[in-house]
Amino acid sequence: MDAVLEQYYHLESIILENHPGVDMSRIRATFDFARNAHGTQMRKDGTEFITHPLAAAEIVAEIGLDEDSICAALLHDCIEDTDVTFEDIKKKFGQDVADIVDGVTKLSRVTYTSKEEEQMENLRKMLIAMAKDIRVILIKIADRLHNMRTMEYVAAEKQREKALETMEMYAPIAHRLGMQKVKWELEDLSIKYLDPIGCKEITDGLKLRHVEDESFFQRVQTKITERLSAHGIECAVNGRIKHLYSIYRKMYGENKVLSEVLDLYAFRVIVNDIVDCYNVLGYIHEMYRPIPGAFKDYIGNPKPNMYQSLHTTVIGNEGLPFEVQIRTWEMHQTAEYGIAAHWKYKEGKGGKVADEEKFAWVRRLLESQQDSDAQDFLHALKVDMFADEVFVFTPNGDVVNLPAGSTPIDFAYNIHSEVGNRMTGAIVNGRIVPYNHILKNGDIVKIHTSNAAKGPSRDWLDIIRSSEARNKIRQWFKKEKREENVIHGKLSFEAELRHENISLTDALSEEVVTKLLLRTSFHSLDDLYAAIGYGGVSAKKIVNRVKDFIKTAEKTKKKEALPAQNPEKKEAPKSKPVLGVTVEGLDNCLVKFAKCCSPVPGDPVIGFITKGFGVSVHRQDCVNYVKYDKSSEDVGRWIRVGWANTDEHNYMTSIQALIRDRKGIVVDIASVLNTLNVRISSFNTRDIGDGKVFVTIDVGVKDRDELVLAMAKIMSVPGVMDVRRADG
Ligand code: MN
Repeated sequence: MDAVLEQYYHLESIILENHPGVDMSRIRATFDFARNAHGTQMRKDGTEFITHPLAAAEIVAEIGLDEDSICAALLHDCIEDTDVTFEDIKKKFGQDVADIVDGVTKLSRVTYTSKEEEQMENLRKMLIAMAKDIRVILIKIADRLHNMRTMEYVAAEKQREKALETMEMYAPIAHRLGMQKVKWELEDLSIKYLDPIGCKEITDGLKLRHVEDESFFQRVQTKITERLSAHGIECAVNGRIKHLYSIYRKMYGENKVLSEVLDLYAFRVIVNDIVDCYNVLGYIHEMYRPIPGAFKDYIGNPKPNMYQSLHTTVIGNEGLPFEVQIRTWEMHQTAEYGIAAHWKYKEGKGGKVADEEKFAWVRRLLESQQDSDAQDFLHALKVDMFADEVFVFTPNGDVVNLPAGSTPIDFAYNIHSEVGNRMTGAIVNGRIVPYNHILKNGDIVKIHTSNAAKGPSRDWLDIIRSSEARNKIRQWFKKEKREENVIHGKLSFEAELRHENISLTDALSEEVVTKLLLRTSFHSLDDLYAAIGYGGVSAKKIVNRVKDFIKTAEKTKKKEALPAQNPEKKEAPKSKPVLGVTVEGLDNCLVKFAKCCSPVPGDPVIGFITKGFGVSVHRQDCVNYVKYDKSSEDVGRWIRVGWANTDEHNYMTSIQALIRDRKGIVVDIASVLNTLNVRISSFNTRDIGDGKVFVTIDVGVKDRDELVLAMAKIMSVPGVMDVRRADG
């Protein structure tokens, strides 16, 4: 019989042992199909290629995976290395098998380079997330295990590369899935390639004391077995040297020689039930002196990967310390096979495992989380089943972890807010994609940026998925809300001018503006306004400069601006508000708002005692207040007023806008106000020629902020050239 067939029958025997229910004719058909597909391909060691998938299938059957997994293991290299397609497999062996093979193929394509620990963790998570079905990962681990076992004929450089990848990726994954036995073997195989000399030192050292060690194991084993049997406890006891890599870590991590590594020996006692575990612990402590603090109860507190056992370290009669692990048979299964033990256990009882049950197991795994590190990992494990995360690559191979449904914009902001703000395009897997492109696991994403980029658009907020991007875009708008800042700034500037009794015409004469921009190094008046609006520079400071420029320019036009009193500088005293206005010293007096300047809450205001019509409220920058005749007897009629904290009123005021006439512009302005819920009471247009129209809009607003927002919105309507408040 040929060697390959012999290996196949060995696989059958493993399956029969572990899964009596498996349809062997299906396994045989899969094997024949795979062997045929791989044809004359050979492995580096000179054997027929099919021996590799066969060996992977053996491992998969040994760790106890189901029939579909065994078939998928046999076919796992078909899509990648032969003419066989996903469809072929689906047609012949069903959707499940095809999906698993497809998953393994995709994982094999993930490029790996050694990274810092944080990146490695992301890469591990990504592998699991990509796998979707945990069986894919398990088959991938089996694949890697067999490749590591047969690396002898592979080129030295490749050996080290694969060994490092195994050490950093697959062993930790096996560990997290609780597959201790596989993890140890992967580590031991890897370290042999990574540090052959260091390993040889250990194996040579162990060889020297082999005979001695064997008799030590024998003595302790017999002693424990006899004592436990005497108490009627059925048990299996065996001793072993700890695995190579754990000794290696102790020696090189703690800088010791082999003879200094004390806990080289471990004994395992397996019993039938949990009560016996604790009984055994008692007897062991009776027989040997326990090392204080070395006892760990992983039965009461299972490890995140479901590992359960009692651990204790004791001093043997020869003065040698050794560890004893005590567990039940069921715990033993879980310790050896981890997540895979689930299939083994269930299938033994016959029948296929339903999906919900599979997930229930994972859920239990999740619920038993204790450390956050493992929680993160299992979150990723959960993710592949419930898909709420996506893992993509930067062009230099770093893994970026985003919420599922993320777009290149999310990616860009994850890299840096400046990358997001200056983004001009995205390339995924070498192709230009639209901004709303949904990223998939394993995508390589590249972002184009430009210093001339306009910054984020409001539409982006509807596309993005991550809160990180959302926050950064919002931050940007807050900072870059230029239009609103310009209007705010312009209002303060103009108010300050009135205050100083400077006319707008004087202040904005070409000569003054040129000088001003030159000295303040702003590019335009709007830039200056924006800076005032944003608080970058004070209106007072700018107006002082303007004042100086005007003075030097037209010395003759020097003006005196000294009001008889400065009521606005003192705070208005409290009195009962009327229409939201408090009047100094007067309760319940008649209040009306001056039509000339239509103040709204938030505006600095001043009152004028009218003859017979109560107090009329003006803005402090109202022309009628700023320019009243200080020598007249009216001086005493100005009175301090203030705003009470109330927003129950709707205040009428006017907005003026200069627009370049176009079709629909009035509707656009109205609809902008409408979305802000600003009430429009009248809308007047006046054609001033040259295609320009002067618009006056009477609106009702809550306060100055609402008004400024409304003005900014109007300013953003295409065709609007200027927006200001009516000031009589
Ligand atoms: Mn393979």
